[in-house]
Amino acid sequence: MNLENTLAFAKRQDEADELRDFRNQFLFPKHEDQNFIYLCGNSLGLQPKVTKEVMSHQLDNWANYAVEGWFDGNEPWMFYHKELKKLIAPIVGALPVEVCPMNTLTVNLHLLMVSFYQPKGKRFKIIMEGGAFPSDQYAIESQVKFHGYEPDQAIIEVFPRKGEDVLRTEDIIIKIKENKDEIALVLFGGINYYTGQWYDMEAITKAGHEIGAIVGWDLAHAAGNVPVKLHDWGVDFACWCSYKYQNSGPGGISGIFVHEKHFSNQDLNRFAGWWGYQENKRFKMEKGFIPESGADGWQVSCTQVMPMALYHASLQIFNQVGSFEKLRNKSIALTNYLEFTINEVNKSLGTNQYTIITPQDPASRGAQLSIIASQNGKQIFDGLMENHILGDWREPNVIRLSPVPLYNSFEDVFLTGQALLAITKKILKSS
Ligand SMILES: *Cc1c(COP(=O)(O)O)cnc(C)c1O
Repeated sequence: MNLENTLAFAKRQDEADELRDFRNQFLFPKHEDQNFIYLCGNSLGLQPKVTKEVMSHQLDNWANYAVEGWFDGNEPWMFYHKELKKLIAPIVGALPVEVCPMNTLTVNLHLLMVSFYQPKGKRFKIIMEGGAFPSDQYAIESQVKFHGYEPDQAIIEVFPRKGEDVLRTEDIIIKIKENKDEIALVLFGGINYYTGQWYDMEAITKAGHEIGAIVGWDLAHAAGNVPVKLHDWGVDFACWCSYKYQNSGPGGISGIFVHEKHFSNQDLNRFAGWWGYQENKRFKMEKGFIPESGADGWQVSCTQVMPMALYHASLQIFNQVGSFEKLRNKSIALTNYLEFTINEVNKSLGTNQYTIITPQDPASRGAQLSIIASQNGKQIFDGLMENHILGDWREPNVIRLSPVPLYNSFEDVFLTGQALLAITKKILKSS
């Protein structure tokens, strides 16, 4: 399709968009009484209007039933996670039994590594992307130390080639093959938080399995953003936070995935707690841990009802959309349009002021574009804020903008391009 840098074109796209009304289900932050154009769903998704109601329903259950709420009412807390499992499964391409909401992301990363990072002999290394989100780096570092290894010896990081911003799949696969007898675990982020690159998860999973390694994914920036098929790709385990593209609120609950092929494996270590114990015998309070089958067997503490209610509210909206494919199609169109408008800004300026480091191929990215400003990046980012456009700034020099298909419009994207051009002209002239 020929894209046009006009308001009329953007409005036509919005009229033709069957998901256009979903934005009315969200609350937008305001700046001087005007709604922000919110392009920061990669960091914290917006609050759905229904959230208050879903939360308030659980507060009422607590008020009306107190401890009896675990088994009474129309949504007994004892089984509440099962409602969520059904809604989460299609978002990550899993069976409901393979997923479970629990804890927070980095905590789950640790718990899953306890099970799936089991170094033995010379197979003790973890391979990951260089420049991974710091929490993942720290978690992995501390896990290898916990097993008695030095991080420099046990962690292999794959970096882009000199002069390139993103990783080539072939380079990742070569590194896996080069270390085929030493890698115990392949653990990448599905989408890199900084560059917005979506790795070829299927190919990397396959390469990891070919050398006999376990393959896990941190889907913080991928879950709810791009279609992943954890079950079909044979991924061993994964986890994500739900507060980015899944709108569950600050510090929202995490989700885990464990492939069903591991359910009967008795050799997996676990850091156990009572909530992972067989559900129908949990309250017999007996000695000796026997896990519930499925992902539920990785639970440690009792159901976090309130954080789950927050996630539940947003999952209901995903469910209303009906198919993830619809969201993804709109997401591709919106992100392509954002890329186009930024290129138009460069054209109008007559310089390459903006370089998009996120891959151009829609199959290698989700909703986020990471943009490097050759001059005055932070000042321009602040200028966007003053013009009620909220993206985010990541040190040292990247502006991340994420048009989210549930609540952003083509008009949002057009207006962002216009504002970026005006602000850049003003700042570059005065500097
Ligand atoms: C956002 C993010 C986190 C945050 O972890 P929390 O435990 O939820 O604070 C971790 N890893 C990655 C890759 C992220 O993008």
